[in-house]
Amino acid sequence: MFIDARQLPEETSVETAVCIIGAGAAGITVAREFIGRSFQVVLLESGALDYDEATQTLCDGENAGRPYSLIGSRMRYFGGSTNHWGGQCRPLDEIDFEERDWVPHSGWPFGRSHLDPFYERAHSICQLGAFVYDAAAYEARIDSRAAFIGRRVVTKIFRYTSTLFGQVYRDEIRRSRNITTYLFANVVEIETDESGRTATRVRVACLQGNKFWLSAKLFILATGGIENPRLLLLSNKVHRAGLGNQYDLVGRFFMEHACFKSGILALTQPTVLEALYATNQEPGDHPIPPGQLRGTSAEPRQPGDPRQRGRCPRQEQSATELEDDPQGQGERKTCTECHWPRDRPRGAGQVDAGAKRR
Ligand SMILES: Cc1cc2nc3c(=O)[nH]c(=O)nc-3n(C[C@H](O)[C@H](O)[C@H](O)COP(=O)(O)OP(=O)(O)OC[C@H]3O[C@@H](n4cnc5c(N)ncnc54)[C@H](O)[C@@H]3O)c2cc1C
Repeated sequence: MFIDARQLPEETSVETAVCIIGAGAAGITVAREFIGRSFQVVLLESGALDYDEATQTLCDGENAGRPYSLIGSRMRYFGGSTNHWGGQCRPLDEIDFEERDWVPHSGWPFGRSHLDPFYERAHSICQLGAFVYDAAAYEARIDSRAAFIGRRVVTKIFRYTSTLFGQVYRDEIRRSRNITTYLFANVVEIETDESGRTATRVRVACLQGNKFWLSAKLFILATGGIENPRLLLLSNKVHRAGLGNQYDLVGRFFMEHACFKSGILALTQPTVLEALYATNQEPGDHPIPPGQLRGTSAEPRQPGDPRQRGRCPRQEQSATELEDDPQGQGERKTCTECHWPRDRPRGAGQVDAGAKRR
């Protein structure tokens, strides 16, 4: 059932067992897990079923960092940012979970294999087809492989979906007897008990002015990578620094697509790579090639390699071989061979070269 929260009388108190805040990819996925259970679930969504200009402006805010469009980069209605996502998907790599001394705070408490069963389930929810990310399987099918691929450059497979969560799963959520979705319902504060350890209720406000409370035994925060920290930091009545922020880490790990140019591939026969990198291999799939070439971090991680210390091998030999930075960035010099900046700090650039990281 969908309810327009703007119709609720001022200061109404709603009670439920489970409250999910945000109906994007995460919120809808979790809500579907609860369909048909013996308890009641409330899904609170800031927006409507379709785009609403006034609600979208709530994404706006001040940005103290690099230029970034807070208002245009996310979507604030049922389905969340999947309403305009590219649908490009692949699991994280093993290295993403490892502790790396050049990446502060790196290292997860578990490895990639721990997530594999969940990846397969997510794959099916995203309607991505068979769970195949092995480049060799694609290369064998098309009988083609780039000759230079090996230790330093590898093929990574991406899968594409056109699934918009807000459309594909809307009816299922609507029909569910134990799930009630409130639209136009903006959570503005999470209230806790006196210890600040247990969330007890949330304050919900509609743009038109009415406000109400929702109490639950369990709250699931699914408002996205920027709004989750925003809400936790806003909820600071008991803990001045915000909920869960005793280590000052809430919101510190936001990452967009970190991109940099690592090289240029000049092909004498451009058609050689077309099969895997420039045409669609699977009928019915998104018409974007599944393969991407990626530099690896295998070599720089070997002890003794000058790149381990964040320097190009040529610079290690002679600084005179450096040329002026073609981008004209002050005094910075780059290597004529690989354009590695002379003053690059230790370890920088040791993420997968040329990769777009999600
Ligand atoms: C242009 C673009 C392209 C993208 N392309 C890709 C891609 O190709 N591949 C990929 O993997 N990812 C892509 N992404 C990222 C992907 O869309 C997100 O990672 C994903 O949607 C996050 O899911 P989520 O549920 O955490 O948040 P969202 O999908 O953003 O959902 C959050 C929901 O919470 C609601 N909400 C927010 N604040 C409140 C509040 N205070 N109270 C109540 N509700 C609230 C919002 O209205 C929204 O519906 C793209 C994103 C953008 C913007």
